[in-house]
Amino acid sequence: MIEIERGFMLNLLAELLNEHSPTGYTEKALGLLRRQMLIFPFLEFSTTRKGALLATWKVDGSSRPKAVTAHMDTLGAMVKEIRANGRLSISKIGGLQLNAVEAEGCWVVASSGRLIRGSLLFEDASSHVHGAKVSETVRSEKNMEVRLDEMVFTADETKALGVSVGDFICFDPRVEITNGFVRSRFLDDKACVASVVAAIKALADAGKEPAQTTTFHFSNYEEVGHGASAGIPSDVVELLTVDMAAVGAGQESDELNVTLCVKDSGGPYHYGLNNKLKDLAKANGIPYKTDIYPYYGSDGEAFWRAGGDVAVSLIGPGVDASHGYERTHSNALVNTAAWVAAFLMDA
Ligand SMILES: [Zn+2]
Repeated sequence: MIEIERGFMLNLLAELLNEHSPTGYTEKALGLLRRQMLIFPFLEFSTTRKGALLATWKVDGSSRPKAVTAHMDTLGAMVKEIRANGRLSISKIGGLQLNAVEAEGCWVVASSGRLIRGSLLFEDASSHVHGAKVSETVRSEKNMEVRLDEMVFTADETKALGVSVGDFICFDPRVEITNGFVRSRFLDDKACVASVVAAIKALADAGKEPAQTTTFHFSNYEEVGHGASAGIPSDVVELLTVDMAAVGAGQESDELNVTLCVKDSGGPYHYGLNNKLKDLAKANGIPYKTDIYPYYGSDGEAFWRAGGDVAVSLIGPGVDASHGYERTHSNALVNTAAWVAAFLMDA
């Protein structure tokens, strides 16, 4: 098994996590990733018109080009309405769970470019005023609001700050690494982006290259279902999707391991490529789980639905409390990276 540099991977992951990137607002985070990957002089970079970052590793004599995709976009929100009290209604981006972001700090990216600090709260948040209603009310976009830490108490005062409908709202990622565990709101899918880059570095440090020309596709619209529908070269034969595994009751996946997902909401993945990946894991001594995810879609599927004629598989580290306050372990990330590296080197 090729050596994965755990420290490099975790440092990169922390940097990516701390750069906000809700779907639709990923340019800065993808720019950061591109700069971090300049240590690989053999990669050719480009950006799709839709904004995804592509990095291509060309090799001589390649007859069966491959691709690897992982997504940089995360959950978040946009300003839906400026309320009469100067606070903001939100519109969720992707499968944001309101319970999981209640009382979280956030930044509003005002149209002026200014970052305005605030937090997301239930609109009747005071226990001493609203009693049982505070805990008994089901949270919805209608009864949650962003309270800005500014002298604004009317709609006009908030508008005067430069806030308007459609401004992005970025929730604090709250990154912590403790005893090998990594905790953050948005491990999905930056954990996998970091794993893919760690795999590239492992090959480069070992003086190796992929068996086939490989396109690394860093997607920017996965959380809304169509990230990799564009940007994968049409001649690609195999597409490895790297995204988190779903952990919970009834699931095989766990935080310490990488999982091969054989089926999710979109149906089964590619049997032949799945079997190839299993053989590669065995040959390289990579322990893995096999699982089915009940409520899940991936960028590999997005490419299939867009007409991509390619074998697609999905692997990724187990992530606890997905789309909540997520956690995984660096062992799962190391094994994800090792599996990606094995895929790259396989003919
Ligand atoms: Zn994901």
